[in-house]
Amino acid sequence: MSPKKVLLSGSADGKISALFKRVSAVNKSNGPFDMLLCTGRFFPEAGPSEDDSEKDTEILDYVSGAKEVPLPTYFIGSFGRGAAHAIESLSSADISAAVHYLGRSGIRQLHGLNVAYLDGTHNAQAFQDDCCHAQGDVRALEQAVDKAEGDVDIFITCEWPADVTAAVPPGSAPADAGSTGSEVVASLATKVRPRYHVCGGKDVFYARPPYLNKDLGAGAHVTRFIGLGSVGNAAKAKSLHALALVPAAEMDVATLTQRPEGTTPCPYELPSTSKRPLPGADEDLGEQVRPLGLAHPPCAINDTCKATGETLEACHARSSSNTTPWEQAAERACQLHGSEFMGRELTIDVSTSGARAPSGKPVEGCWFCLSNPNADVNLVASIGEECYVVLDKGPIVDSHVLVLPVEHYPSQLSLSASSFAEMERYLSALQSCFASQLFAFERYMTFRKSGGNHCQFNVLPVSAKAAAGARSTVEQLARDHGVPLQPLDGPSKAGREVLRQAVGDGEYFVALLPDGSRLVHAITRGDKHPLNFGREVAASLAGAPDRADWKKCASSPAEEADRTAKFKKLFKPYDIMQ
Ligand SMILES: [Zn+2]
Repeated sequence: MSPKKVLLSGSADGKISALFKRVSAVNKSNGPFDMLLCTGRFFPEAGPSEDDSEKDTEILDYVSGAKEVPLPTYFIGSFGRGAAHAIESLSSADISAAVHYLGRSGIRQLHGLNVAYLDGTHNAQAFQDDCCHAQGDVRALEQAVDKAEGDVDIFITCEWPADVTAAVPPGSAPADAGSTGSEVVASLATKVRPRYHVCGGKDVFYARPPYLNKDLGAGAHVTRFIGLGSVGNAAKAKSLHALALVPAAEMDVATLTQRPEGTTPCPYELPSTSKRPLPGADEDLGEQVRPLGLAHPPCAINDTCKATGETLEACHARSSSNTTPWEQAAERACQLHGSEFMGRELTIDVSTSGARAPSGKPVEGCWFCLSNPNADVNLVASIGEECYVVLDKGPIVDSHVLVLPVEHYPSQLSLSASSFAEMERYLSALQSCFASQLFAFERYMTFRKSGGNHCQFNVLPVSAKAAAGARSTVEQLARDHGVPLQPLDGPSKAGREVLRQAVGDGEYFVALLPDGSRLVHAITRGDKHPLNFGREVAASLAGAPDRADWKKCASSPAEEADRTAKFKKLFKPYDIMQ
């Protein structure tokens, strides 16, 4: 686990030779570095009579190989004099060329680090020419974040985010740091949740105190914002910054979620009334009070949208009626609210404040949030006020079901008292249905993907013989896997507090045996808990050890429908909602 060493630069503004000369010196004195990431504008400012089709020779010498590039270099800021020609030359240059244009927006893994990027600014010619591509860039990055494995290490943008100095101690930020900034970038920063957000665009150096991102169920980590001056700026503001960081993918959760002293709340998600007004911001656009959802794409403020010919105001209105996937999910949930679903009224309370989903709200991409488009509602067998029962998609036996909260809570310990009570009622109904020959388990781990764990009990019936020997079977498998189990006293109804005492707010595995007793394993920091342990125990008790592997248990939609119908019939006399 060795740290990657990265150099980051502010706007090069076409001063490529000066930049590389400095990078080369720093690489010799403090290197070697793995790469150089260039934020801000890479090309020189275009004069009034010029456009980006003009040639700029400085970069071309490096593209052609006439001059040597000191480090693998990745840039955004593809606007200014000579930009179009240089990008074209780069795309046709040797693949081994050391200078790379990252593209409009996205996430790339570079030298082991997850790097997210957004090209362009409010006023760049490129955006004025094609407003809707900018919207597409923002969407593309949001989609990349949804699909990304693990956390983003570094997010680079051409522009500073609006409100970045909100929530810092008075007087601690340079005067220019808190002036104008982009709401689009601020909004994206809350979505990308990078460990470092680095940008150019002002001749100011500012390393903000870390701010805490929202916990989406997998633990919250901080973001450190760094604004860099442009290369060779007159104010002599720092334009080159070095980072040595271990990729998030290689860090344990405890280290990743450390909160350094001086950590502030997220500046972009403060209530709008506590935000300081931005000097110079356009009052007419209501920049200070507009909620931080997906703002208008970055196109020129005092212009018409060149793509649609609409005035900007109209274009703003149209853009804000487009919704993010989360908003669509929330909308879908609201539509479900109060509606009849499987013969029962469904209650879903979706908060409309804030763009992100805190614990208990639908989480994008989660298969178990019922209101999400990818939830498999065809497998649902029963739905209560706050919990539901669904057939497992890779069942160990035909009646293998999951009991889960409708909303996104990571574990039974985070459920409200009423949700927990309903979950207990479902478990008890299943106990009756399976004539007490029931095995169930819950595993809570702080996964980082898709907002983290969605609480779930795996429940399945076992034979009378397996039920009688369940405790010794489970204990034997636990020994085999090095998973020490301890009994929890008291019946599960009274036992949530007992569980809490045993595991604190840490990760755990808990098994419910046919005789109603429970065994728990508190997963300690650094423990490598075997992910499939619960399924292996369940498969063994069910007499089908070969079905421990989920991937071998997929079934066709017809089989799923058949299995769901059969289970509903079996469960109907016991269903708490019947
Ligand atoms: Zn969920």
